[in-house]
Amino acid sequence: MKKPYISVVIPVYNEQECLETLYQRLTSSLDKLEKDYEVILVNDGSQDNSTAILDELHARRPERIRVIHLNGNFGQHMAIMAGFENVRGEIVITLDADLQNPPEEIYKLVDKMDQGHDVVGGYRMNRKDSAWRLFVSKAHNKLRERIAPQLKMKDEGCMLRAYRRNIVDLMVSCNEASTFIPALAMSYAANPAEVGVAHEARELGTSSYNFFKLIRYNFDLVTNFSLVPLQFISFIGITISIASLFFVVYLFMRRIIIGPEAQGVFTLFAIQFFLIGIILLALGIIGEYIGRIYQQVRERPRYVIREIKQQNNSSQHQTSTSVMQQKEKEYVS
Ligand code: UDP
Ligand code: MG
Repeated sequence: MKKPYISVVIPVYNEQECLETLYQRLTSSLDKLEKDYEVILVNDGSQDNSTAILDELHARRPERIRVIHLNGNFGQHMAIMAGFENVRGEIVITLDADLQNPPEEIYKLVDKMDQGHDVVGGYRMNRKDSAWRLFVSKAHNKLRERIAPQLKMKDEGCMLRAYRRNIVDLMVSCNEASTFIPALAMSYAANPAEVGVAHEARELGTSSYNFFKLIRYNFDLVTNFSLVPLQFISFIGITISIASLFFVVYLFMRRIIIGPEAQGVFTLFAIQFFLIGIILLALGIIGEYIGRIYQQVRERPRYVIREIKQQNNSSQHQTSTSVMQQKEKEYVS
């Protein structure tokens, strides 16, 4: 089968309202590029009508639209990974299904890639999101700049990005149980670039990120790409130890010079609560790392593919590991 030049990978989770418009706008902007392309829509265990709509989109243009149905909800980045594992193109583009990343902007990424870059990140100009999302995102970007300065990007939350195939294959081979794709790509990019892209408000459907999911997502980025939080805990520990050494010397002198002290219970409580708070925080941060190590060492499949709808081979059942084995076989034969 002839390999396409561009593969577009889109994670889909309960997006029944968006899919038709997405299909129309995406295919018409890709057709305009006059390059061979494929679109891989990864259904991340949608419970709404998305599953049926996706199958219908595949049936409409089977030579262009491939659909991967996952066997449950594995999260946005794992859904994209499942797509990555199956791409055929030389340039791989990711975007969101909800049309917050306008498909009409894809040409900008392709132009940049054609100039020889291996990773092209989009950054959102005039972001249209709720005030608290903008706040979280800004804080997130600032924090990331501090704790993972090796990741040079303006806007890691923008999913409209392009990667050359070798970078995508590297990301797949990492086999990470939790990850953050834009950052992972940056760790391997030799010649990255950025372009400003338009951003639209979500007009159809609802964001599937609530407050807690956003926090987890932020921890994924931090723990996967930086040890700074752990070093920060050690730093606080050392500082407090040194301070308390001085405090002990002071109390000892006071005991000798002024005599025993009976009052000051509330001061003691305040100091205790402060220290207990720090200990719990430290345990929590360590726990975030250990939990991810635990996930990783169990080596369970990161996601399970229930079915792939594509031309010539319209239905398969496999897990992510069996896909790898099958690929190995393909290379051997
Ligand atoms: N998504 C997914 N699995 C999930 C959550 C989201 O595949 O568990 C997809 C979703 O369909 C969309 C993209 O990830 O294409 C971004 O999600 P959303 O628009 O809800 O996030 P936001 O734009 O609010 O960050
Ligand atoms: Mg969105």
